[in-house]
Amino acid sequence: MTMTTKIIIWMIAGLILGSFINAFAHDIAFIQDYLVNGLFHVVGTIFINLLKMLVVPLVTFSLICGVCGIGDIQKLGRVGIKAFLLFLLTTTLAITLAITIAVTINPGKDFNMAQSASAQTEFVAPEAPPLSQVLIDLIPSNPVAAYAEGNMLQIIFFTILFAICLLMIGERGRSIIEGAEKLNDVMMQVVNVVMSIAPYGVFALMAKTFALQGLELILPMIGYFGVVVLVLAIHASGTLMLLLKLLGRINPLKFMKKMRTAQVFAFSTSSSNATIPVTLRTIEKRMGVDNSTASFIVPFGATINMDGTAIMQGVATVFIANVYGIELGLIGYLTVIGMAVLASIGTAGVPGVGLIMLAMVFNQVGLPVEGIALIMGVDRLLDMMRTAVNVTGDGVVTMIVARGEENISMDVFNDPDAGTLEPVNLPHKTG
Ligand code: ASP
Repeated sequence: MTMTTKIIIWMIAGLILGSFINAFAHDIAFIQDYLVNGLFHVVGTIFINLLKMLVVPLVTFSLICGVCGIGDIQKLGRVGIKAFLLFLLTTTLAITLAITIAVTINPGKDFNMAQSASAQTEFVAPEAPPLSQVLIDLIPSNPVAAYAEGNMLQIIFFTILFAICLLMIGERGRSIIEGAEKLNDVMMQVVNVVMSIAPYGVFALMAKTFALQGLELILPMIGYFGVVVLVLAIHASGTLMLLLKLLGRINPLKFMKKMRTAQVFAFSTSSSNATIPVTLRTIEKRMGVDNSTASFIVPFGATINMDGTAIMQGVATVFIANVYGIELGLIGYLTVIGMAVLASIGTAGVPGVGLIMLAMVFNQVGLPVEGIALIMGVDRLLDMMRTAVNVTGDGVVTMIVARGEENISMDVFNDPDAGTLEPVNLPHKTG
């Protein structure tokens, strides 16, 4: 049995157990205290922390190797610009598709406010930073603080500058580059070790989420929920795969098969950022993309590219406009598309980003921000699904750029067994 199959089986087991607890044991204090908020909470949080623990050192060493591997500043710039434009393209396509399908199906037309439990919760829009501040914040005034806070864009900026200067000092920088290569190997091994306990971590995360999050919340919101899920599926298996085939000349089926592990991690952690180690490993070891391209685009994409989140925003806009009986019109929807794309860049590096972006979009087109409270009840579940789509988008863009730059080994990509996870053998002394 492959590791991915094992993780998926544990994931489904967690989902079933969690739903079972939610349906039949939600008022048994013992189960809630010791299992849901005890064991599942502890194991799940430890697992997410283990993944997050890898992100900063892995991205740093991998980026140093990547930039020094390219060795050509012009090429680095070209890779960056291509990736950025493709991120904009996929996000624009995602939200346009979302609005088109939502306007056709029209969820929320006959929505009964009183039926929704989440209508009673209040939504307070978090502050979104102005664009000028986002630009200023790209440059860390203190790199150590950037590393300590895990500020991805600042880390990327500093590390690239550091690596470029390493190249500039020539022979004297050689040993540091070699050191970074070895440290990168070590971090990749740490990823393997952490991934080997993933089935239990994923099980705990799923069991906790579904024990606390009853599926009955979905019923009154089925229109909104269903449309988001539908568009996520169409975008991931249609639009993105078409782009992969047309722009990257890459077989979508093989890609999807190998991407599954990263999607499962994204789904169970709801965080593109925590999934970076797995995405990076998948793209490099399983798909054969050179470290010089992957090390840059994957963390960059995890921070600024959010197709799934844009889809949720598109559908949420149509849904809330319908619930409140507000007519947005073509100009309104075009503004939503523009705002959502800008917001996805503008809120880079801010945690809990989806709802902040949505509040920005609503403010711009004059929809009531408190309407967001309505969709918050089902947001946890949708977050899982859209994060899997976000990560798929990062993977697709990385593959397209790598193919264009001839930075991919198609032999590795075509080998179904390339980079599969082996059981880890812990070192032991013999004799
Ligand atoms: N959870 C998403 C991600 O990390 C972001 C969001 O939609 O809030 O990709």
